[in-house]
Amino acid sequence: MLHTGGPTANPAPVLSPQSTALTIAGSDPSGGAGLQADLKTFQQLGVYGMSVVTLLTVQNTRAVSRVELLSPEMILAQLDAVLDDIPPSVIKTGALGNAAAVQAVARRLSQVKCPIVVDPVLVSKHGHALASDDVVMAYQHHLLPRALLITPNRFETQRLTGIELKDHEAAQAAAGRLLELGAQNVLIKLGERDDQSVHVLGSPEGTCQFLTPRLPADNTHGTGCILAAAIAAKLALGEKDIRQAVAFGIQRVLETISSNTRLGQGIHPAETRAMRPA
Ligand code: PLP
Repeated sequence: MLHTGGPTANPAPVLSPQSTALTIAGSDPSGGAGLQADLKTFQQLGVYGMSVVTLLTVQNTRAVSRVELLSPEMILAQLDAVLDDIPPSVIKTGALGNAAAVQAVARRLSQVKCPIVVDPVLVSKHGHALASDDVVMAYQHHLLPRALLITPNRFETQRLTGIELKDHEAAQAAAGRLLELGAQNVLIKLGERDDQSVHVLGSPEGTCQFLTPRLPADNTHGTGCILAAAIAAKLALGEKDIRQAVAFGIQRVLETISSNTRLGQGIHPAETRAMRPA
């Protein structure tokens, strides 16, 4: 006899009932980055995910061909609807759009108490500018002071601080500058050096480096989003030590790249299907 459902048939993954995470981010319809990557990451790590949409992209793994921004009023309406009903244990921000959206989100987030992880999507990891100077200023003046952690890549760090990251001392100085701007912790995704991938964590206690093996992979689309979302998920599950949360996020990204899945014909998405409770 065939049984469908019931306790022994394909048990559903158990979600942590009180662990909730909200991403405020843009949509990538091909599912590799943006709010789709965030929600998948939350789910896989056992955290209930919610999303406020800020902008729509038309993209696949080969190219982004169009972007349409939602109004700050529409973003705030979504945000209020969620905040008034299901309190997030953590909030993560991704691509927000224009300066008005950054300011509006920052103002609303000044009223929440949960940790906020800010992934400032300003410049792609290949160096293409995704935001104008007024957006950079809105981050500096309004959103950074709300961030428990900000996770810029090397180009975003240079834009936010004006410091060229030519060596480790420069990275330390840039981390210091971002802390002065009000972020409580900063994780700079420096990129590859020799055979290693380098992350620098700056916090009031000082700076430390995370070195992981560089994987010769071309399935890296969405890794910035996955890193910040995995750190946020770990915080939602109760991790208080920011170093532990960051180490977990970096490890999670390594796992997603290691699967070496090759979906699409452009920059393949990092694999986010495998269940892995945090
Ligand atoms: N958010 C959106 C909506 C995007 O489309 C992208 C890149 O395409 C990103 C964020 C950043 O992606 P990554 O994690 O690859 O840096």
